[in-house]
Amino acid sequence: MTDWRIDNARHTRGAALHVQKYVRRSDEWEHDHCEACTTKIMESGANVLTEGYTTTDKYRWICAQCFNDLKGASTRFLRETTPEAVADDIERLLSGNYAAWDVDDYEHLNPRDRDLRELWRRSMQVGGLPEEWVRLDHEHKNELRDIVRHLKQLGAHGKSGPRKFSGPDA
Ligand SMILES: [Zn+2]
Repeated sequence: MTDWRIDNARHTRGAALHVQKYVRRSDEWEHDHCEACTTKIMESGANVLTEGYTTTDKYRWICAQCFNDLKGASTRFLRETTPEAVADDIERLLSGNYAAWDVDDYEHLNPRDRDLRELWRRSMQVGGLPEEWVRLDHEHKNELRDIVRHLKQLGAHGKSGPRKFSGPDA
């Protein structure tokens, strides 16, 4: 089955996305559209969406409906920034089995979740640019694999354990 939305959203292929509330960019630029179905996304209003999945630079938006429909359309068409996804990225980069966008994507990942961001930062400090990781020595590769283990623990914890709340009302 082909979906016209896949072609519309082709520039977002492979991008790491996270869900967030829409925030206007300026007085003149107060809305965006879902790249796939063109539904309007803005801060508030009737018959508009107020949140969506966006790239780290917030220049591309995909609505939740399209995200859910398209993420399975082809592998890695869309994905959410989760500890498991970051662990997969590192393993792929270590093995040399990656596409050009993977490297660029990984360098600009900067996850919002604090624990996840910390592990991502650590990985970026181990051995230089991700495209060089495949040529790292044993010791540095093991450091990265150690980070992968921590990421997987973080992912497992996030799913099974109760959510940690930081607010006083939680
Ligand atoms: Zn959409």
